[in-house]
Amino acid sequence: MNKIFLFVSGLFLLTACMQKNVQKTAGDDGMAVITWIEDKPGPSLQPHKLYPDVPDSLWNALGLQEGVPSGMNCFLLQTAGKNILFDAGLGAPFSQLFPKLTALDVKPEGLQLIYITHFHPDHIGGLLRDGKVTFPNAELYVNRVEAEAWQKMGDKQSGQAKGVLEAYKGHLHLFEAGDTLPGGVISIAAYGHTPGHTVFQKDSILVIGDLIHGAALQLEHPEYSPVYDMDAAAARESRLRILNYARENRLTVYGMHLPDSGSIHPNKLCVSGIR
Ligand SMILES: [Zn+2]
Repeated sequence: MNKIFLFVSGLFLLTACMQKNVQKTAGDDGMAVITWIEDKPGPSLQPHKLYPDVPDSLWNALGLQEGVPSGMNCFLLQTAGKNILFDAGLGAPFSQLFPKLTALDVKPEGLQLIYITHFHPDHIGGLLRDGKVTFPNAELYVNRVEAEAWQKMGDKQSGQAKGVLEAYKGHLHLFEAGDTLPGGVISIAAYGHTPGHTVFQKDSILVIGDLIHGAALQLEHPEYSPVYDMDAAAARESRLRILNYARENRLTVYGMHLPDSGSIHPNKLCVSGIR
C-alpha cells in the first residue's frame, strides 16, 4: 500500500516538475506550489527607448539589437489550502488570467487572497471589469506606502488605482513592509519602481514584481532603469539589494515581466554590485 502511495506521489511530483509553469517548495508549514500565469501570450520585444541611458555598444555586445524580450505575468501560490494571486494582469482583451485560473480549477469567487506588488495598470487591470470587482470574495493586500502614494496623486495618473481601492474597500488590507501575510508570505520593501513597490517571499520563492523589466539587460547590468521606474536611483538600490538577497539565500525569482517561464534560478543571479 505504502509503495503504491509513494509511487503515485512520486509520479505526481515528477509530472508537476516537468511542467515548466509549476514549482513546488517544501517549507516549515508544508508544501507551497507556485504556478506561472502568462497574462499576455508570448514574450514581446521592449524597444531600446525604454532604456535611454544604454549605449548602442552595450546593446550590440549583449546581442539585443532588436530589443529586450519581456513577458507580462501573474503567479498563483497554493499553500495550506489557500489560493493566493500575485497581481492581476492588465485586464485587456488578450489577457489570459481568467481562462488560466479556470484551467487550474480556481474560480474567481473561490480566490481568497490577492497580494499586489504595485499599482501600475498591467498589475491591477484584472481586478475590475466595468467598474465591478472580478474577485468578489478575495481579500486584497497592498503596502500602505503604495496605497497612500497613489491616493495623493492626481486623478489622471491614479484614477484606476483609486477605483480599485474604492471597489475593494470592504476587503482591503494595508500592510507595513516586513509584515508576514496569510499563508506565511513575507512582504519586503523594494521601493523605487513605484513609491511602495513590494516583493513577496514564501520559502525559496521570491515574487519580485517589476524589479526587473528587461532581464537580458538588467541581470548583467542592474544599474540601468527603464523609464517606468518612478525613482530610478531608489529602484537601482532595490534591484541590487533584492537580487543579491535572492542569490545569497538561493531563492528562485518570479517576475511579472520575465519572459519564458517567468522565473530565474538562483544560479543565474550573479549580481553583486554596479558594473
Ligand atoms: Zn509592470
